[in-house]
Amino acid sequence: MSRVPVTVIGLGPMGRAMSKILLDAGHAVTVWNRTPSRADEIVATGAQLAVSPRAAVEAGELIVLSLTHYQAMYDILDGVTASLSGRTLANLSSDTPTATREAALWAQKHGASFLAGGVMVPAPMLGTDHSYVYYSGDEEAFVTHEAILARIGEPRFLGSDPGRAQLMYQANLDLFLTTLAGFAHATALVGSAGITAAEFLPEVLPLFHAIPAMIAPDGIRALGARIDAGDHPGEGSNVTMMGATADHIHETSKTVGIGTALPRAVQELYHRAIADGGGSDGWTRIIDGIRAPLR
Ligand code: NDP
Repeated sequence: MSRVPVTVIGLGPMGRAMSKILLDAGHAVTVWNRTPSRADEIVATGAQLAVSPRAAVEAGELIVLSLTHYQAMYDILDGVTASLSGRTLANLSSDTPTATREAALWAQKHGASFLAGGVMVPAPMLGTDHSYVYYSGDEEAFVTHEAILARIGEPRFLGSDPGRAQLMYQANLDLFLTTLAGFAHATALVGSAGITAAEFLPEVLPLFHAIPAMIAPDGIRALGARIDAGDHPGEGSNVTMMGATADHIHETSKTVGIGTALPRAVQELYHRAIADGGGSDGWTRIIDGIRAPLR
């Protein structure tokens, strides 16, 4: 069965895994990478290594980019824009929504369709049932290539604004990175009393599973609707109580001599909500201070 030829540009762990999945699905896959040796493994499994970015572009109807940032796309493709016309660029690289919207205009100027993608799982999980990817941008191009993109992960289309998928990706990573930083801080905190990470992990990791039930006892949608309505009920636990705990964590961090930047940032959110008169509200009240930061 003939399949759409796909080019993958960028062969980090993500690009290599995507190339492998597309090859396994029967696509002719052409690859290009700044450091050619990173293509060795995937070429051995059947991909064609393009001799130049131009050859890479001209080999694919769908061109998937998996790069460190959007500047890398310009570094690679700026010299071959004449070959872009009529093709679809699906850029699955991280950057800002602004850079993403600019890239869509750049692609459009050169006659290419543009899709921005935010991949939500690491390389080993690509192509599994757990894999999903946010897309936004050219809807026609998305519909045309949706079945191919679905091989990588469940495609979730968020509309025509190319910045939207990037923002959704970034918001997920905002939560992820902040959570990892909290985890690292907590590990250092217990370490100050000689509690090892090996002892601490079994105690703390199950908390991740318990958090949704703790913060949304009547369901995630109900919590979302309350936040959207600006309703922050504080009967169960309120900002004053949570802020006092944030103070205690900050004070302890100082006392035991570990970093205080993270607990200080958290503490400030609660102090701000209290100063704004929200002490008896629920913790979601801190979002108001984040939305309107003091300058
Ligand atoms: P890597 O950093 O390993 O690879 C990045 C690729 O970008 C490499 O092919 C590298 O080329 C290329 N590159 C970087 N700068 C330039 C440049 N100026 N010119 C040409 N090529 C350049 O990334 P990953 O595979 O880990 O990630 C790719 C994208 O996927 C990133 O945007 C990342 O945020 C996102 N992502 C990654 C996840 C992960 O778990 N790894 C999970 C979800 C999303 P070279 O080999 O020559 O250095």
